[in-house]
Amino acid sequence: MGALDDRIRIHTGDITRLSVDAIVNAANSSLLGGGGVDGAIHRAAGPELAAECRTLNGCETGDAKLTRGYRLPARYVIHAVGPVWQGGGLGEAKLLASCYRRSLEIASDQGCLTIAFPAISTGIYGYPKDEATGIAVHTVTDFLRQDPQLETVTFCCFDERLAELYRRAVAVPGEG
Ligand code: ADP
Repeated sequence: MGALDDRIRIHTGDITRLSVDAIVNAANSSLLGGGGVDGAIHRAAGPELAAECRTLNGCETGDAKLTRGYRLPARYVIHAVGPVWQGGGLGEAKLLASCYRRSLEIASDQGCLTIAFPAISTGIYGYPKDEATGIAVHTVTDFLRQDPQLETVTFCCFDERLAELYRRAVAVPGEG
């Protein structure tokens, strides 16, 4: 187990291309597919992914469920359901932290060493990006402190602006 700094990576690019043990999907509670990163993951994984998702009976907001990765380079997909941003007074921060934590627990239980997250809830679901990246970094940092197994957690950013927000959040993880 390396220092915390070595175990958190920030990558700019498409999460469907990453050869990690598990990629996390920003899914909706039906788990039946959607737009954004969810659509990209289903397109890249092939129709077997939707077939497995249909057997899972959906997923609560703040929770996550595991499937195989099919045609993806990643072995598993962890489908996490983040909150829709409704102004911040409806427990959105707790729900967002919870879906990061549940994804990490599932990955660890499955024996994963490497996992990559998109910026859950910051697209169609409208969560302010600076707050969401702070919560993501804080929750992952807390988890890594008590989990010796996970080697690296990658924050996969679709663009450089988002990557810059993660770099700032990693510099001050306590503010998440
Ligand atoms: P949500 O509904 O949870 O907001 P979205 O998929 O709309 O989910 O957006 C979540 C984040 O994923 C956004 O920051 C978006 O820019 C990013 N994103 C979209 N496609 C990809 C991709 N292929 N790889 C990595 N990130 C992506």
